[in-house]
Amino acid sequence: MPNSIPEPLSAANDHAASTTAQAVVADVVCLGCGCLCDDIEVVVDRDREKRAIVATKNTCDLGVKWFEREIVQTYDYPAMIDGSPATIEAAIERSANILSTARRPLVLGLEGLTIEAQRSAVDLVDAIRGFLVTRSRPGTDIAHRAVQRVGIVGCTLGEVRHRADLIVHWRSDPVVTHPRHGERYGANSIGRFIPRGRADRRVISVDLEPTATAAQADEFIKISSGNEYETLVVLRALVRGAPIDRGRAERRTGIDFDILKRLSETLKSARYGAWIWDESKYNNESDILTIESILALVGDLNETSRFVAVELGGSANRAGATAVSTWRSGYPGSVDFASGAPRYLPEIADPAALIESREVDAILTFQNLDWIADLNAIKHAARVLPTIVVSHMNEPSGFVPSVSIATASLGLNEEGTIIRVDGAALSLNPPLESDRPSAAIIIKEIHKQFAAERAQKKDDRIGNRTY
Ligand code: SF4
Repeated sequence: MPNSIPEPLSAANDHAASTTAQAVVADVVCLGCGCLCDDIEVVVDRDREKRAIVATKNTCDLGVKWFEREIVQTYDYPAMIDGSPATIEAAIERSANILSTARRPLVLGLEGLTIEAQRSAVDLVDAIRGFLVTRSRPGTDIAHRAVQRVGIVGCTLGEVRHRADLIVHWRSDPVVTHPRHGERYGANSIGRFIPRGRADRRVISVDLEPTATAAQADEFIKISSGNEYETLVVLRALVRGAPIDRGRAERRTGIDFDILKRLSETLKSARYGAWIWDESKYNNESDILTIESILALVGDLNETSRFVAVELGGSANRAGATAVSTWRSGYPGSVDFASGAPRYLPEIADPAALIESREVDAILTFQNLDWIADLNAIKHAARVLPTIVVSHMNEPSGFVPSVSIATASLGLNEEGTIIRVDGAALSLNPPLESDRPSAAIIIKEIHKQFAAERAQKKDDRIGNRTY
């Protein structure tokens, strides 16, 4: 349920909009999780310094934290070079210089950009012959590869809200990770064909351990991580009506056969089922088979009913990064432009491994490295590689990039478009103004400067030739 603004943003809520200096900005998008709630109301104080948010409405605790974190921007200078204050122009020039001398720069962090900026970023990666990785988590691009091989029966989140009478939370815990998912698109939402909301739905949670989501479900089924794939295979066989050895199925899954049988019957009897899964749970190469099994099972269920697979989605504009990379390069990420043409290399697109092996020799990131803190190896190795950070957030303490350029914050004070996990495009309605440039402008300027340097080098080569 949406929270009435916790401290400290809630502190001034009683007085929100009570003075003429305050104004309410409606339809602000929260980028705190993959729900990307676009019904947030933000009370801003026009009289105070820019970045003055008095209160927020319709945000959950996670959303409040997101707004608070975005507000605390600790950049003291618009740009830095080797830890010293610099002008933005000098920082752009130095960035272009690093990229023009690098053999194969690694480009990260597109999730933190609008669609418009992502388009410019992919074009820049193409020009600099870089390696584009659109995932900031460790591990390679498991989910995309599974979807490419098996396909996916999906839908918009709105369709789940309006039609789903059965929701299966398969190793997903949105009550914790996506707090308003249930209210907006999931178990508790009221839809056109689900007029009583939760009362018209059956909710099943299947997970390794009981979760907060399981506590609110009608049924919880415990599986073991080592047997997840086998459990899906048995379920698929049951749904397809294939002959199954009961004892063998129990030994392989560790689950009572009757429970699996009952679950398969529930799946088949749904009028409209939604299988909610969380991609972040799958990071190992062997997980591809598990995701493929989920997608294949959901596909099979469409023989008898309507069933869809819905991923919970990551925060910020992760889905947009995939969409734009596909649009501009033909591939959903993990694209190597080193040869002059895009090559899809998901098996090696692990940023940490690429840096450690020195497959790349410079880093350009659009999110600060703290944002992708799980990539400890990057933080470590980036100390010895030329690194350019174009971001609205400060760098991790103790790390000095070669160049850092402070930009406006996505959603808080930068306009543009982002894409939700179901493909819905959302227009950002930033509540605050910023005196910092947008990332899109900085990327275009770096590209322009890079092209000028390249042209100059070409001229110099021609000029030095003897005929
Ligand atoms: S559910 Fe997610 S997007 Fe919605 S308010 Fe909470 S953190 Fe923000």
